[in-house]
Amino acid sequence: MIKACYPGSFDPITNGHMDIIARASRLFDEVYVVIMHNPRKQCIFTEEERVSLIERSVKAAGFDNVKVLAGTGLSVNFAQSLGCKVMIRGIRAVSDYEFELQQATANMELNHEVETVFFIARPSFSFLASSVVKEIAEYGGDIEGMVPDVIKDEVMDKMKDFQTL
Ligand code: ADP
Repeated sequence: MIKACYPGSFDPITNGHMDIIARASRLFDEVYVVIMHNPRKQCIFTEEERVSLIERSVKAAGFDNVKVLAGTGLSVNFAQSLGCKVMIRGIRAVSDYEFELQQATANMELNHEVETVFFIARPSFSFLASSVVKEIAEYGGDIEGMVPDVIKDEVMDKMKDFQTL
C-alpha cells in the first residue's frame, strides 16, 4: 500500500490542485492533502476554512481515498509521520521548477524515507494559482472553472471583504 502526501497552502484550493489530487488518487492507495504553514505566504483563509473548503471539494468530486488535514513542522517529516513514502508537488512553469527543485533536494537530505514526486500541471490549469483566483474574486470577476463549484460562492464572499479600491 503506497500512501502519498500532498502538502501546500491551498489558500484557497483551485481546480489546478484538484486535478493533481484526482491524478494522485488514481496512482496511490491513499492521498493525504495536508495544509502546511508557509512562512513565505500570508494566507487569507484560516486553516479551518481551508480544511473545510478542501473537504467539501474532495467530497463533491467523489474521491474516496483522499483525506484532508492540517499539518505541523517540516512537511517531509509530517509526511513520514502519516506513513507516506511519497510527497507530491506540482510544477506549472520554470518558475515553479527552480523553487521546487531546491525544496525537494533539501527534503532529500532531511529525510531519506520520503520521495518527492512531481506532477506536471495540466495545460488548461497551468496559469492557475490561488493568488490569481483571489485577485479576480476580490474585484468581483468570474472564477467559474477555476475553483470547484461547491466552494465558489464562499470564495467570492470572503474576497469581497478584501477589495481595496
Ligand atoms: P505552497 O505554498 O506549498 O506552494 P500551493 O497551495 O501554492 O502551496 O501549492 C501546492 C502545490 O501545488 C505546489 O507544488 C504548487 O506548485 C502546486 N500547484 C499549485 N497550483 C497548481 C496548478 N494549477 N497545477 C499544478 N500544480 C499546482
